[in-house]
Amino acid sequence: MPDWIADERRYLFQNYGRQPIVLDRGEGTRVWDADGNEYLDFVGGLAVNVLGHAHPLVAEAVARQARTLIHTSNLFYTEPMIELARLLVENSCLDRVFFCNSGTEAVEAAIKLARRWGHDTRNGAFEVIATEDGFHGRTMGALAATGTARYREPFEPLPPGFVHVPWNDVDAIRAATTERTVAVLLEPIQGEGGVNIPAPGYLRAVRDWCTERGLLLILDEIQTGIGRTGTLFAYEQEDVEPDVMTLAKGLAGGVPIGAVLAREAVAAHLVPGDHGTTFGANPLAAAAGVATLRHVVEGDLPACAARAGERLVARLRSMEDRLPVVSGVRGRGLLVALSLTSECAGDVVAECRRRGLLVNNVRPNAIRLMPPLTVGDGEIDRACDILESAIAAVTAAPK
Ligand SMILES: *Cc1c(COP(=O)(O)O)cnc(C)c1O
Repeated sequence: MPDWIADERRYLFQNYGRQPIVLDRGEGTRVWDADGNEYLDFVGGLAVNVLGHAHPLVAEAVARQARTLIHTSNLFYTEPMIELARLLVENSCLDRVFFCNSGTEAVEAAIKLARRWGHDTRNGAFEVIATEDGFHGRTMGALAATGTARYREPFEPLPPGFVHVPWNDVDAIRAATTERTVAVLLEPIQGEGGVNIPAPGYLRAVRDWCTERGLLLILDEIQTGIGRTGTLFAYEQEDVEPDVMTLAKGLAGGVPIGAVLAREAVAAHLVPGDHGTTFGANPLAAAAGVATLRHVVEGDLPACAARAGERLVARLRSMEDRLPVVSGVRGRGLLVALSLTSECAGDVVAECRRRGLLVNNVRPNAIRLMPPLTVGDGEIDRACDILESAIAAVTAAPK
């Protein structure tokens, strides 16, 4: 067998800290590596694989579309993109959709849309208020919006026009608002920041401020959307409606896609020539999106995620009594993090992997779990057993 890991080191940019296994097959919540070892996958492709691995509906839709028409460009109409846009509009509070290929591209498009709208209606207002520890992607505009200085600083100068305020602090948003402000950009739950839940009423207060001052509320639901938090979109649980929303990750069940949704009055400001992409709305990705979203909606998978999340959180909370290193559990639906009193999350991830469970150390002191929305009760119990034994083993080991 070729030494894939050595070849990766030889041929790829070394910009990721990959776990040392080569995955080659999956089914539902399980994956297998090239040596035949089986794992429970609670990384879920970073909150992407909402239907798990190799779901027959997604696999069939992709195979059928691949045999029919893979790509055309946006010079033409194709059915899957129109069908997917219709599903998104019918199941959200927004009116129109722009498709792209990733989360960061969706954020870029949302920023351009906000600037265009500010240019046309708000005397050229362009500044976006975002939050510390917020994550919006890695391209220059999305990176400028991202609230982690460590990610931004090596790439400065970044596009101007972004300010960062503390999360969960609506007064800070009010204080940062000026004549130049065009939008507030937030995740309904900060995902990469460590699964940070909004304080009760925070998003509602931000919505009210945006309405009062004529700012756009842009919700980045790239990680929280498509059922992850127990409703199709996380905003539904917060009594707010965004003016603009970004989606990606789970939208096409694992096939790369991104989308921006907006209210009619905002979307109308992007006109021919303003923005575009060669691959966006690609029939293959859109067909996967139709299959995924239809099943999520018709199967009421957000409710499944809510129920499964309660079981998961209850099991994790029970660990707090037995393991002093476990200091808290936070999450909603199947976007959950376990916080630790020491920076041993990397060691816990490695120990879980050796015991057959894949999880993510979202912070040095926090483990994130984001299994498919289809995860079974037995799988949750087994994952929690492994996680508990791994934490016990790591924290018992002499330093
Ligand atoms: C993952 C993520 C992004 C970036 O998406 P990519 O597809 O990696 O570019 C942006 N915003 C949020 C909230 C995310 O979770």
